[in-house]
Amino acid sequence: MHEEGDQCSCGTSGEEAGSGQEKRLGWHEYFMSVAQLISRRATCTRGHIGAVVVRDHNILSTGYNGAPSGLPHCNETNCRIFRSTHPDGTVEENCVNTIHAEINAIAQAAKHGVSIKDADIYITASPCIHCLKVLINVGIKTIYYEKPYKIEHISELLRLSGVRLVNVSAETH
Ligand SMILES: [Zn+2]
Ligand SMILES: [Zn+2]
Repeated sequence: MHEEGDQCSCGTSGEEAGSGQEKRLGWHEYFMSVAQLISRRATCTRGHIGAVVVRDHNILSTGYNGAPSGLPHCNETNCRIFRSTHPDGTVEENCVNTIHAEINAIAQAAKHGVSIKDADIYITASPCIHCLKVLINVGIKTIYYEKPYKIEHISELLRLSGVRLVNVSAETH
């Protein structure tokens, strides 16, 4: 079979043979890099987040934060902010226009009939408490995140649910 653009580094491809020295991307870096790329499609001006649902090293669905399909996005209109007070007294601000990235990844799976039970999710930021509750109920086992977002708000729910929260980086070390 002829494979165009084959990245084989077996040393038979002439000039490119030296590129075989490059370190192969690990799974965490790979999926977090995909999540970062997906976050670039996000439209809420308050933050760009990407999410990738993975099982057995296969991508099942993806999502980024933005308005529901066909509705105006925040970068076309404006964010609409609501404030809520967390039980610990801290005030949280959220944009009501947007669906969070991890919920959009779940919606994409539901729309196409893809089971995400016992899957893992890579998100460029740790989930808010509302998304975590949904991630628990769809059967996500491990949440890999890159940037922490108010982790103190979800620590009790994580402990009670048994869902793992693991910090990984898209950068290779
Ligand atoms: Zn917004
Ligand atoms: Zn959320």
